[in-house]
Amino acid sequence: MKYPNCQTDNPEENDVLGIIYLLGTGTPTPTKSRFGTSYVLQLDKDYLMFDCGPASTHKLVKIGLFPTQIDYLFFTHHHFDHNSDYPCFLLCRWDQSIGKERRLQVWGPPPTKWITERLIGLDGAFSHDWKARVKAQVSQNVHVNRGGSLPRPELSLNVRDVGPGKVIEHNRWIVTAARAHHVEPWLESLAYRVDSDKGSIVFAGDTSPCESVTKLTHGADVLVVNCWDHQKTMEVNGEAPGQTGTLDAAKMARDASVKNSSLLTLVPILVSRAPEKGEYGILPISTKVKLSLVRN
Ligand SMILES: [Zn+2]
Repeated sequence: MKYPNCQTDNPEENDVLGIIYLLGTGTPTPTKSRFGTSYVLQLDKDYLMFDCGPASTHKLVKIGLFPTQIDYLFFTHHHFDHNSDYPCFLLCRWDQSIGKERRLQVWGPPPTKWITERLIGLDGAFSHDWKARVKAQVSQNVHVNRGGSLPRPELSLNVRDVGPGKVIEHNRWIVTAARAHHVEPWLESLAYRVDSDKGSIVFAGDTSPCESVTKLTHGADVLVVNCWDHQKTMEVNGEAPGQTGTLDAAKMARDASVKNSSLLTLVPILVSRAPEKGEYGILPISTKVKLSLVRN
């Protein structure tokens, strides 16, 4: 059997379930250390990004990755704290590409396709940028100096609106989605599960505990939860519906028989507080978590 052990040591390569880069573990309220949500999951040489909140592109580089390494992007939903760096990421990744990169693939609940088209489509809000970089001599020179060749390709990607079910079956991993419960019917939300031969990781996104996410998570090795606040605080101030509190996060992991522990991501308000009894798996401000396996 194999179990994950959430730690930041350096396990043998074969024992690595994956590496989670915590680009954003905040909320819509900016603080000096946190703002919005974004994670990158590294599975061997593949990098899967989940959400693209404020400044995710810059946070990506600060953590030691580069936009052209990200070939797969999944949106849980389209609140701005989860998607506002999307145009920046798309333009930067395209601008830095020199023709050797794989085509970016993007999935998310509706209106992912609609948003993408209106951002960088032929008549999109940012189309003037990439059109100018394709046509202007100076931009062509920059592209060639980076190693690219002319004519410079236009910005294009594969983008799909998806719902519950299998999202992508890669030869080394599979991503499956389930309906999450957040702020319907105004926004649709999805949770994602990634299965590989090394193990399973679930990104619940913004959601209240619900049967569909519990079912998706069943038997997973790690559950990543966006945790809003202390349970008691949320129940008193009316912020519990559609979101996960500290105790609910732990219960979600328990109910889904997550193999070892849930991995909680915190909101700024919790950083200064000590965990209450029954709360566990609270993650300090950290940017990189290597999930190693211990085989018995
Ligand atoms: Zn949200």
